[in-house]
Amino acid sequence: IRTKSELDLLKEMRTRVMGSNISLLYEDPIHLVSGSGCYLVDEKGKMYLDAVNNVPHVGHSNATVAKAVAEAMQKLNTNTRYIRRDYLEYARDLLATFPPSLEVVYFCNSGSEASDLALRIAREFGHSKKKSDVVVMNGAYHGHTASTIGISPYEFKRLGGKGKPESTHVMPFPDTCRSLHLDGDKESKKVLEAARRSGRKVCAFICESLLSCGGQVILPQGYLKAVYANMKAAGAICIADEVQCGFGRSGEHFWAFQSQEDVLPDIVVLGESIGNGFPLSAVVTTRELADTSANGMEYFNTFGGCNAAIAAGHSVLKVLKEENLQENAKAVGRYLLQELKQITKDCDFVGDVRGLGLFLGIEFVISKEDMLYAPNMAKFIANVFKKRCVLVSTDGMFENVIKIKPPVCFTMQQADTLLRTLRTILEKDLTDDLIAQLREKDLIYNENLKESDREAQSSSGTSVICAGICLASVGILAMSSLIP
Ligand code: PMP
Repeated sequence: IRTKSELDLLKEMRTRVMGSNISLLYEDPIHLVSGSGCYLVDEKGKMYLDAVNNVPHVGHSNATVAKAVAEAMQKLNTNTRYIRRDYLEYARDLLATFPPSLEVVYFCNSGSEASDLALRIAREFGHSKKKSDVVVMNGAYHGHTASTIGISPYEFKRLGGKGKPESTHVMPFPDTCRSLHLDGDKESKKVLEAARRSGRKVCAFICESLLSCGGQVILPQGYLKAVYANMKAAGAICIADEVQCGFGRSGEHFWAFQSQEDVLPDIVVLGESIGNGFPLSAVVTTRELADTSANGMEYFNTFGGCNAAIAAGHSVLKVLKEENLQENAKAVGRYLLQELKQITKDCDFVGDVRGLGLFLGIEFVISKEDMLYAPNMAKFIANVFKKRCVLVSTDGMFENVIKIKPPVCFTMQQADTLLRTLRTILEKDLTDDLIAQLREKDLIYNENLKESDREAQSSSGTSVICAGICLASVGILAMSSLIP
């Protein structure tokens, strides 16, 4: 009788004690025991090159961050109702990375909390004019709380989602590789007009500066400038979600919104990489908005801004600077983009390779000519990457995009390992037979995408829950990016 492995026992225990909607990555999940730099190690000592976890921004188990947090825990760990030098100096240094008008910071513990606080500020701002609606991008994810699911089509359209709340208005997804909905001016006017006609009043527009959950999309130049201008003209404030794309990841700039010309958000939401894995997030805004939202009700967050979190955040800034990691993201990202394009240029099932800095995506299609979505191909390749000890994930409106967003200390040599692995997958693992089988599955997937589903992906205002997406989600759960 085969005795159960430790992994089997842990899997059983997980089923017993964890919620059934807490998903696992990969068909064959990994049992992790440690991490260092851009590597993760499983229980057998197998090392995986981590090309997808953006949260350990300056590397897994970074010694500087770990030491700073440990020291804080041993000395003092309390809240912001006391005067403390640590959070004030961190606030000063964090704010110095922003344009001068963004001069006030609030600390919280997660991206969802920060998005929620941004909503609270925006709604307080809109309150006197009875405005409380929000415009969002299709495919976007801004958090897991009740309020932020309501502004996350990524969630409310999925299986089990409750559909679009009346107070949310959805802009079509800018599909850069199919040249759809790229005119920010036209699309934002349309969504604002539709909201107005239905008697709704918009107080805010929220958008990631680079669209991660939607499928690693780099917005066309001028897109956000036009949308922001129309939103501001309609009296709405603009919120930039930099949870995944901030802190130098985009290479050229510290904040990804700066990669769009003439764009100045009123609120910026920070999370994930801010504390290198320590729970910390922040909302950065203008003095005017901060004061408008200070309507007498206190903002208090027990852990937000505690010494340990501040130590993590401050040391991340320090390491980023000392190790020149923004520059690294730029150089390694540029190299990866160029080489990924080169390697895949003759693959008919690669529809697009795109990226900015260490934020890259490979979009899989049935063929370059039809540009139909190929989530099964993407999922298969991501799983083979994992078998070959390189970690990537899949995401996107149709789950057909491989995401590459490693810690920003990812080296040229590590980029070469990733590229070599992709070459091997394309040359050895993907036999003609397999390609045909995956193509078959992907054709069925596309057939199941009813016209209304496709419509739901592109048009504003619909609350259709996508049957096609649901089918895909069930099939892909093992690989799924339900954890963005
Ligand atoms: N915004 C974006 C763009 C995200 O990807 C996420 C999730 N990582 C969030 C907000 C919510 O962050 P958290 O999971 O820390 O609550």
